[in-house]
Amino acid sequence: MDGKALGERIRAEVAREVTELGRPVGLATVLVGEDPASAIYVLKKQEACREAGIAAFHHELSEDTSEEDLLALVRKLNEDERVTGILAQLPLPPQIDEDKVIASIDPLKDVDGFHPVNAGHLLLGKPTLPPATPSGIMELLLEYEVPLLGAHAVVVGRSNIVGKPIALLLLAEHATVTICHSRTRYLPAVVREADVVVAAVGRAGMVTADMVKPGATVVDVGINRVDGKVVGDVAENVRAVAGLLTPVPGGVGPMTIAMLLRNTVRAARYQMRALAFPGR
Ligand code: NAD
Repeated sequence: MDGKALGERIRAEVAREVTELGRPVGLATVLVGEDPASAIYVLKKQEACREAGIAAFHHELSEDTSEEDLLALVRKLNEDERVTGILAQLPLPPQIDEDKVIASIDPLKDVDGFHPVNAGHLLLGKPTLPPATPSGIMELLLEYEVPLLGAHAVVVGRSNIVGKPIALLLLAEHATVTICHSRTRYLPAVVREADVVVAAVGRAGMVTADMVKPGATVVDVGINRVDGKVVGDVAENVRAVAGLLTPVPGGVGPMTIAMLLRNTVRAARYQMRALAFPGR
């Protein structure tokens, strides 16, 4: 499953939507500290924004920034009409409570979909800003017409940003969902039952060919650096067994950025509606 091609198509769609929207769309990114991986991610997001006609407002704060100062910046961004999306790049330094920062973002501007209100809406099956990586996975499954109704989907990993939300989105499409994690017994046997496998662990090559039912769809979310190369959670030999597979790189990664842009436009729409119908 080619996430690069589909991601590019979605980005072009977003660019069209931005011109049609009739109001400026802007994403504010906040980076605290000097983690090189985070800096690269933020840079990629800003570039993608500009390409889609979305204004990029970047705020870089030093490693020793206080929680109070960061919360003050978020308050300012919440009130700034040019900013329709706010993203605090995680992880944040230890003196800052991540949950507090996420909860301080206006839920209508929470393009990462991590705010408890948006997470709650996802759980309840209500319109929301869904987290980008899981919604990118759903777009790929839709594009490749992977049957989900009644299918058995096994998600490996239970993080708040990938494992749990992708399980909810699969459930909303009527899959029978099993969530596995580090304490799961007989993991290979459970994964072998799956029509759709989503591997979101962060351990290179942990899903091997003998764990995959022939013909199953395998989504590899993992990003692991091994000997200077980026590899996923799915071993090379799975290619011979799986019906469909997302490559790493070029699968889920490019979809994540595309869906972040889509969320930024969706957020702008929600804000326009909230202005038109105050109190609703
Ligand atoms: P995380 O560390 O928060 O969660 C990992 C999960 O894996 C945990 O729930 C844990 O229980 C489970 N786990 C750990 N060891 C296990 C084992 N031996 N067997 C079964 N389960 C086990 O990670 P995350 O944030 O969910 O990210 C997972 C991976 O996906 C990472 O490699 C991350 O870099 C990658 N990722 C990629 C994208 C993308 O855009 N492609 C986005 C987010 C995360």
